[in-house]
Amino acid sequence: MNAVLVVNSGSSSIKYQVIEEGSGARLAQGLVERIAERGAGRVVHTGSHGETIVDGDIPDHAAGFAAIVERFAETGTPIESLGIVAVGHRVVHGGSEFIAPTLIDDEVAERILELAELAPLHNPGHHAAIIAARAVFPELPHVAVFDTAFHQTMPEKAYTYAIDRELAAEHGIRRYGFHGISHSIVSRRAAQHLGRPLDSLKQIVLHLGNGASMCAIDGGRSVDTSMGLTPLEGLVMGTRSGNIDAGAIFHLLRRGVSVDEVDRELNKRSGFLGMTGTIDFRDVRAAAAAGDAAAQLAIEVYVHRARHYLGAYLAVLEGADTIVFTAGLGENGPDLRALICAGFEWCGLRLDPARNDARDSGTRVISAEGSQITVLVVPTDEEAEIAKQSTALVASLAE
Ligand code: AMP
Repeated sequence: MNAVLVVNSGSSSIKYQVIEEGSGARLAQGLVERIAERGAGRVVHTGSHGETIVDGDIPDHAAGFAAIVERFAETGTPIESLGIVAVGHRVVHGGSEFIAPTLIDDEVAERILELAELAPLHNPGHHAAIIAARAVFPELPHVAVFDTAFHQTMPEKAYTYAIDRELAAEHGIRRYGFHGISHSIVSRRAAQHLGRPLDSLKQIVLHLGNGASMCAIDGGRSVDTSMGLTPLEGLVMGTRSGNIDAGAIFHLLRRGVSVDEVDRELNKRSGFLGMTGTIDFRDVRAAAAAGDAAAQLAIEVYVHRARHYLGAYLAVLEGADTIVFTAGLGENGPDLRALICAGFEWCGLRLDPARNDARDSGTRVISAEGSQITVLVVPTDEEAEIAKQSTALVASLAE
């Protein structure tokens, strides 16, 4: 039995899953949270013996991994007994150089840290976890799987910002795109579900979670996506503004708001949170239903923006075979899906209201019989994709 330890770490948290190769079964999973917060650390671990929660100081990521190994041992399934053959690390930003899953050595780890310049909220946490995990599991291959890599197939015209070429080159300013791990697995699963070859399909994927992005995929290759240099560009999100005139930022700076405040404002206090006071779409929906005008407007802004991109990607792809909804709101928001798809009958898109409203958690078609564009809901599974890409790389290196 072979398995992969998948690690998705932030600056103060480590999410982990042990996934069996082939079957995709979860052998264990858990979360270390509040790293470096004195007295507030916690490990929630679910293994063969159910869930355990342990509270206690976790000063850094190294202590986090030590706590994980201890949880496995103390719950009767030592981590060494699980047949782990690789550790797959999710890395948000791989810049222009990481275009595929990459075996991590000292140099790769260092580059991931250097790329923190482009992803200050994400890459430092990944780097800390990589260093700690390599120390705990020195004998295992560690693989970095990048959220940007899938979008490295975008043509230059899609990733270039219309600014001074030298300035762009000097500072690495271009569109990279994110959520690539999700866009990749979801578009492949949609093709599998339809029994169609991936390379024959033009797909538009809407990853609508707390973070949100859309992707135009031609024959399995990303040709455009809504996130840019950072995950701030594009759709309205839980706490991010998505598209905003860069002029608004200069305006705020000139009025005395600091750079860090503007950053925090647009990344952490905008989107649904900024417009309504609540991040979660379920609360926004409930408030709108109760007559809250701000919540109603927020939903309209959200849908309007998504429809902009849907129209744009129909143009970019010159039509589409499938539209795929995924992630928290995409999988669980039939009302949002209906609003986003409404009025696209002119291009042959018709939802089936009963299919769209059906309570179902699996991959499913929600368009009407005879709709020219097939609309699907496909649950995302980024961890499974990281496990798959990690084992594929390790197997190819062993050949
Ligand atoms: P994700 O980032 O993919 O985990 O998505 C998280 C978001 O999905 C939450 O903030 C919610 O707004 C939304 N979500 C999750 N479950 C539901 C649901 N049952 N109905 C509507 N929205 C949901």
